[in-house]
Amino acid sequence: MKRERVVIIGSGPAGLAAAVYTARAQLKPVVIVGNQIGGQAGITHEIENYPGFISITGPDLVEQMRAHGEHFGAEFVYDMVESVDFTHGSPFTVKTYSETYLADAVIVTIGADPRKLQIPGEAEGIGRGVSYCGTCDGFFFRGKEVVVVGGGDSALEEGIFLTRFATKVTVIHRRDTLRAGVQLQKRAFANPKMHFIWDTKVDEILFGEQGTVNGVRLSNLKTGETSVYPTDGVFIFIGHDPNSKIFGDQLALNADGYVITDERYRTSVDGVFAAGEIQDQLWRQVATSVGQGTSAAMSAIHWLDEHADQLQPLDEVAAGD
Ligand code: NAP
Repeated sequence: MKRERVVIIGSGPAGLAAAVYTARAQLKPVVIVGNQIGGQAGITHEIENYPGFISITGPDLVEQMRAHGEHFGAEFVYDMVESVDFTHGSPFTVKTYSETYLADAVIVTIGADPRKLQIPGEAEGIGRGVSYCGTCDGFFFRGKEVVVVGGGDSALEEGIFLTRFATKVTVIHRRDTLRAGVQLQKRAFANPKMHFIWDTKVDEILFGEQGTVNGVRLSNLKTGETSVYPTDGVFIFIGHDPNSKIFGDQLALNADGYVITDERYRTSVDGVFAAGEIQDQLWRQVATSVGQGTSAAMSAIHWLDEHADQLQPLDEVAAGD
């Protein structure tokens, strides 16, 4: 058992920003990295909208953030959180595959994953024409044609955004009515670059000789008819799944499973904070996650200061670490 002041669960931009701030506050945070350091940013091939970097690869930006946190004393543990116990208040139990931590404060930055179509060509197409973020990757499709899969607000909003770059954006939706809000629908239908294919699912993503996307295999869900539709890019917006399962009913979640926080990034449990995509359904940018991680860390630092007289000195805990 290890006794810590702050444990940060997750190492995306929110977790890395929280690590820098809590480390500079001399709290020696422990960051449980999870599957992939940097989360989704860690596998983004190029980032052009993080202020200060005209262009940087996701792994390079993540490595700089990690090194920044480590420089000030953050410890990065390459392990996964298996379970947590927030039910008895601080100190909280965070159990990984190889260790159990008792932490006075916890910052949850465990993120959300874009939902996958789970079709042939999808996984291998990432970085070769398949994307889950128009804001991140739209610029690479200047003068090209792309398809957008999905019929919700994200599909239309990102589709409209993509018309800044692409000559044609075709929304492929599995029904003949959109889930997106009426105003977005009006804007999408009024945009001459937007096209729609209804009642259709994408069965496979196809690649040309260069190894980049050159089409999608479609099937009409009403007629069963199949076809190949040429395209240079496939943007998939069929929702996100927040990684909140490990919390069970210990943290208040909204109807979509996202952790509910207040303006100070406090969760429903006093001493547990959350930042980044685990609590942000809307913006999902490296820059916004960094801001949220910073705010959550500052809240945690203030919370620890306010509760200093109730916290057990770390060296008095006979936890066998
Ligand atoms: P969403 O509302 O859940 O929409 C997902 C879309 O993907 C739906 O049209 C759904 O089809 C389709 N879909 C789901 N699984 C699919 C599959 N396996 N194959 C093909 N299509 C599939 O997700 P979202 O658009 O990401 O929005 C999430 C939340 O954020 C919503 O509450 C939304 O209002 C909000 N949001 C708001 C804004 C804004 O206000 N500007 C912008 C973005 C997001 P069906 O319709 O048939 O179910």
